[in-house]
Amino acid sequence: MTQIRPLIAGNWKMNGVKASLAEIAKLRLAVENDNLAAKADIMICPPTTLVSLFAEALKGSAITIGAQNCHKLVSGAYTGEVSAPMLADAGATAVILGHSERRSQAGERDCDVRDKAVATHTAGLTAIICVGETAGERQMGLTLQVIARQLAGSLPENVSGANTVIAYEPVWAIGTGLTPSIADVAEVHRFMRAELTKLRGEAAANEIRLLYGGSVSAKNAAELLAVTDVNGGLVGGASLKAEDFAPIAAACPA
Ligand code: PEP
Repeated sequence: MTQIRPLIAGNWKMNGVKASLAEIAKLRLAVENDNLAAKADIMICPPTTLVSLFAEALKGSAITIGAQNCHKLVSGAYTGEVSAPMLADAGATAVILGHSERRSQAGERDCDVRDKAVATHTAGLTAIICVGETAGERQMGLTLQVIARQLAGSLPENVSGANTVIAYEPVWAIGTGLTPSIADVAEVHRFMRAELTKLRGEAAANEIRLLYGGSVSAKNAAELLAVTDVNGGLVGGASLKAEDFAPIAAACPA
């Protein structure tokens, strides 16, 4: 298997206003000063209101911009929705899909995530598809079963390393300060690679980036990012401040 370049993506969720440009300027400086692009691809996924502003501000930098959701259709009478081509037009290069907060709060099902991923690909964007078990599912020993079901249901047919990233985010680890053991992360990521191979063939499986997400911080990043089959991180809370986020990218193995 060839070396996969890591991706460190920050999910800002429903945080940030125009004044947050100051934080983005700090991040850009840190990335440039510490040559972090030599270690990983770096992405910030702000709320939709800031996609265009951040994309403009980051022109010429190594940091790319992603969005956090999109509609499955291109345009039409869908009040409050945003389509993948609109996000591309605003400067996004990727869209986070099926985040557990959207699965639980907006009722998104695997089939919805899949439709949105198809729309994302059609717009020329990368789909960052999130999967992960709840605490209850983990207690019942269902972790791998849940991941297998979510992967099979959420992935479009034509996935590749260029258009798809998978993020394993145990729901109970998001925003809690809890993380799975390193052995558990390794087991799930190995399992995801094997499932991808079964579902979409070895070539795609060997190039698709598998991110770990859930309470990643500057403290635990080095250990988590060194795990075999972990090809980067999806970072929530610790992505909001450049001083917390830049060290996570710096912790990527050389
Ligand atoms: C997330 O919500 O994608 C996430 C990983 O959050 P946190 O890092 O805050 O746990």
